[in-house]
Amino acid sequence: MLIDMHQPGIEPRPISLISGASPFCETFFTDAVAPKDAVLGKINEGWSVGKRLLQHERASQTGAAGGGKVTPLQDIAKKYVGTDEQGRIADGELRLKVNRNVMDARVHGLTLARAMAESKGNGATNAASVLKNSATHVAQTRAELLLEIMGHQGLGWEGEAFSNEEQEAVKSWLWGKAMSIYGGSAEIQNNIISKRILGLPDSTHST
Ligand SMILES: Cc1cc2nc3c(=O)[nH]c(=O)nc-3n(C[C@H](O)[C@H](O)[C@H](O)COP(=O)(O)OP(=O)(O)OC[C@H]3O[C@@H](n4cnc5c(N)ncnc54)[C@H](O)[C@@H]3O)c2cc1C
Repeated sequence: MLIDMHQPGIEPRPISLISGASPFCETFFTDAVAPKDAVLGKINEGWSVGKRLLQHERASQTGAAGGGKVTPLQDIAKKYVGTDEQGRIADGELRLKVNRNVMDARVHGLTLARAMAESKGNGATNAASVLKNSATHVAQTRAELLLEIMGHQGLGWEGEAFSNEEQEAVKSWLWGKAMSIYGGSAEIQNNIISKRILGLPDSTHST
């Protein structure tokens, strides 16, 4: 049901996150009221409404850091690790990892664009589960690689010894841990993919 948040008995308490940010709250309802006609949809069919809302939520979580305005990972790697005589990232193993992440980000971005075009702008489909997991993978891997590239400099929390970019790296890495949990964990997305896209039997009902 829809509830008027501006009434006595509703108390949002901010949750402090490990990354230092606090963008949302847990909300307590004590004797708060809602009129009968504020029910959204039919009584006892709230889960159908909830599932549709969750599709919208995860559709908004399908973008992955790595494209757009962020500094390309390969440029950061070259700055910290240096380049070989061909101008490539000096460390061959790191170069492979960075290449893979940059390619994954590109493939994710193109797949996302195609899925959006095919759904005519309606991102709230079951494909959002695939794209949310893929966006999470790309962003978490990038955050891990950033720390690997920066070494100790990527572990600074505050102070002049660390640039803004370095302080942001550790916070993004910590924030990234939440990506595979919020909006439905990665395992729950896999359940949706197997049931709703692949048509596999519901594991909770199988023997
Ligand atoms: C940063 C952040 C922001 C959030 N914002 C909001 C918000 O704005 N509003 C809101 O309502 N909630 C919010 N959440 C809560 C979030 O939706 C839940 O944490 C998430 O859905 C996981 O549920 P849970 O914590 O109850 O874990 P659980 O469901 O207890 O899961 C625990 C573990 O068991 C696994 N698991 C559980 N069930 C299954 C299953 N059937 N099959 C396989 N594995 C399973 C999960 O994958 C997970 O690893 C937020 C969470 C985070 C971290």
